[in-house]
Amino acid sequence: MLSKSQFIRGIKCHKSLWLYKNRADLRDAPDANQEALFESGYQTGDFAKSLFPNGIEIEFDSSNFQGMIENTSKLIKEGIDTIYEAAFSKDGLFAMADILHRGEHGWELYEVKASTSVKEYHLLDAAFQYKLIKSTGLQISKIAIIHINNFYTRDGELKPKELFTIADITEDVLGLQDEIALQIEMIGSMLLGDEPEVDIGEWCGKFYECDFGSHCWNHIPTTSVFNLYKLGGPKKFELYYKGVISYEDVLKHHIPNRVQKIQIDTHQTKEPHVDSEVIEEFLREIKYPINFFDFETMQDAIPRFQDQRPYQQIPFQYSLHILHEDGRVEHREFLADENSDPRTPLIEKMLEDITTEGSIVAFNQSFEIGKIKDLAKTFPEFSDALLNLIPRFIDLIVPFRGLGYYHPDFNGSFSIKSVLPAMFPNHQELNYKNLVIQEGGAASSIFASLYLLKDKNQKEKIRTDLLAYCKLDTLAMVELYKKLCEIKTEEMNNARYV
Ligand code: SF4
Repeated sequence: MLSKSQFIRGIKCHKSLWLYKNRADLRDAPDANQEALFESGYQTGDFAKSLFPNGIEIEFDSSNFQGMIENTSKLIKEGIDTIYEAAFSKDGLFAMADILHRGEHGWELYEVKASTSVKEYHLLDAAFQYKLIKSTGLQISKIAIIHINNFYTRDGELKPKELFTIADITEDVLGLQDEIALQIEMIGSMLLGDEPEVDIGEWCGKFYECDFGSHCWNHIPTTSVFNLYKLGGPKKFELYYKGVISYEDVLKHHIPNRVQKIQIDTHQTKEPHVDSEVIEEFLREIKYPINFFDFETMQDAIPRFQDQRPYQQIPFQYSLHILHEDGRVEHREFLADENSDPRTPLIEKMLEDITTEGSIVAFNQSFEIGKIKDLAKTFPEFSDALLNLIPRFIDLIVPFRGLGYYHPDFNGSFSIKSVLPAMFPNHQELNYKNLVIQEGGAASSIFASLYLLKDKNQKEKIRTDLLAYCKLDTLAMVELYKKLCEIKTEEMNNARYV
């Protein structure tokens, strides 16, 4: 049986579908970000049903697809107007329609997507479904995608008709029918054979990141053409198909830009690259007391709070380390109550905690500044105080991205998750791997669903893990700053003796 999602997998890459059907043991487990996407998809699908109320849902039963198909057919015959998750199967194909509604001119098929626009694979997915349903004898007069309208702002009760956009894709789907038939035939014959020989390529990330990545990419070393800074995806694969994998190979086929050259040179010498002028210029800007600041944010497809937009990044936590001129370090933090809008209490505490003078240092400051501007717009009563913080920001990524310091273990990335372990290897306190929550995506999705958790102890444990994660982000900044000061002093001393 070929389901709709398997068909999309097959269009993306024959090997991916073949492995899915025959070697599911090689699949990578979904990470926290993917889990969050699935969850947001379920929530959106559920809420979109309110656009067509009073429908009857076909209960999912993985051990009895036939029963689901029979129930669907029974409801259609009984004259039910709206069926959720209607199931169909014919000629080895299977699909479930999110919403099947009897409209003025016949049955209408609605697929719900948590995205904010119609994507190419949504059309393919709907076209597959239409072909199958039509072949069972049911006439469909309209096919549409229901997706999130990202211009919506919640004002009072949620208004499904404003939150969702219904895009009529009937013409596109009809135009795709011949292609779908051909693809189904090709996929069917492929599945009868041995594992197809497919090399890695841009299709690995097409529609979504393939979950056989660890299996197919295991011949690519940690340091390879794929880590070269600012080299586009097509160019990387063009070089890879010429047999260029290692940095040594790269030099024979590609003229590297300045960062790439330093990347390759430091990899060969195993020594970091230092430009003390860049470091000095950065350090000169910083004023005590230094506020090392970091937000964690969450986003909901369906806004939970007043004045919230779909997928708006809402800060719910921050960590702040304050380094005084005399060397004292203070730590302050905030983690919102998961049951209510975090923004007002966060703003109040943040304005109280950040010192009135001195620099505010963030790593990749555009994120923090963007969130502060957003808060200022939504909460005009705090606007002046919030916007006054912005000129005090200094970006700690600058001396790294500006090549003041490049360590070969950065491996072409200037994110704090690459910079920190390279500069503090084997440092227990500064190791994200020692934490339960190890990256921002996980913190975001865990907090976003924390209000649904009933177990108090488990909640407390998660809150402690969230605090530990965010705290490390700003402690890391303090230590990176001190390290840059040390490097500058060492360089000055060396220059004196030359
Ligand atoms: S990782 Fe790439 S090549 Fe391997 S199955 Fe997935 S899409 Fe195909």
